[in-house]
Amino acid sequence: MDNKQLTKIYKENISEGFFNLVSFLGFDTEEMSGSGCEVTTADGRVLLDFLGSFGALNHGHLHPKVVKAVKDKLGSMGLSSKVLLNSDQARLSKKLADLTPGDLCYSFFSNSGTEAVEAAIKFAKARTGRQGIVHTRGSYHGKSLGSLSAAGRESFRKPFEPLLPSFSSIEFDDVDALKKAMDSKPAAFIVEPVQGEAGVRVPKKGYMSAVREITENAGVLLIADEVQTGVGRTGKLFACEHDDIQPDILCLAKSLGGGIMPIGATVATKDVWELFEGNPLLHSSTFGGNHLACSAAIAALDSAVEEDFSGNAERMGKRVIDGLKNINSPLMLDIRGQGLLIGVQFKNSDITSIIMSALANDGIMVAYTLNNPEVIRLEPPLVITQDQVDRFLECFEKALKGTEDLLAQLE
Ligand code: PMP
Repeated sequence: MDNKQLTKIYKENISEGFFNLVSFLGFDTEEMSGSGCEVTTADGRVLLDFLGSFGALNHGHLHPKVVKAVKDKLGSMGLSSKVLLNSDQARLSKKLADLTPGDLCYSFFSNSGTEAVEAAIKFAKARTGRQGIVHTRGSYHGKSLGSLSAAGRESFRKPFEPLLPSFSSIEFDDVDALKKAMDSKPAAFIVEPVQGEAGVRVPKKGYMSAVREITENAGVLLIADEVQTGVGRTGKLFACEHDDIQPDILCLAKSLGGGIMPIGATVATKDVWELFEGNPLLHSSTFGGNHLACSAAIAALDSAVEEDFSGNAERMGKRVIDGLKNINSPLMLDIRGQGLLIGVQFKNSDITSIIMSALANDGIMVAYTLNNPEVIRLEPPLVITQDQVDRFLECFEKALKGTEDLLAQLE
């Protein structure tokens, strides 16, 4: 589509505010094709994707195995009749039971991260017969009303308040606060093993095992939101594995669809699933568990394991962090991360914006974390190569130096 026409439609039929935002960053051009870690635009640029669709592209663009699985499936089924048995849903449920930690064994399928979380919240309430949900400050669980009730950014919550009752927040990575919160006997504690949108906050070692012990002793369900950390992102297939723990409910989405199909999964124990006894349709989704999405997810999990995404995330993540530390720019206040979920903290969001647009000019795609615009997130596909990491580091250094010079001139 001609860029003028595309701009007009964006402004008049999608959102002028969104158009202005991406335009400021230098992304006001059409994406034409993607392959691996690169996207080709209508104005002829080849961008290195260090954002990975906010964590949905661990496999990169158009991973051949996932594409093939979906194309093959299209020859026989697309969605599902919903009443006949669906072997793709069955195979995916079994695969998740085998791959996820401990005895998590039942899966409910939906179409996004927020739906996976909504289901988890509902399951916890129904199973325990209690209402309270404890969450952590800064957290991000999605933007539908239930997930938003557990959200950590005021500006996303405010226009929709009052949100759901019986939600309360505690500090992330604070074991004592969690112990205290158990006194009210909530239904569940929901937590991201690494807070992504809060600005990539990695808890102290042992936090998740303490969380598991405290919730278990209190008889409170633990919901691990691995929508962003799952499928190899942090250097393990699931981030809970760093502490070797098993939540009662695990939420997955984003890269579970292999970068091709939208899918969310809420995976839980047999004990949690008792809530469906007597009413298997207590929670349901028309599109959830469809053949195409499940085929994509099976291929996505297989390739993540076969191609050792976790190992590459760990190796390349270390290369990125070491490289950033070597740059030694006073603009970077902190560099933190786990695997290839990395955040760089700056003093304010004006600086992050200048750096992001400098990077865009140099053909690198990044964005800030949604609950903390002072942090640039680095979340490339897990198929990233050493050469691509080095190209990124070179451009990042150039963007930092350029921004330092600009700020010096403004002083
Ligand atoms: N949970 C976490 C941890 C997330 O990072 C996100 C999205 N950034 C969501 C839930 C919501 O996912 P979705 O946008 O697919 O609804």
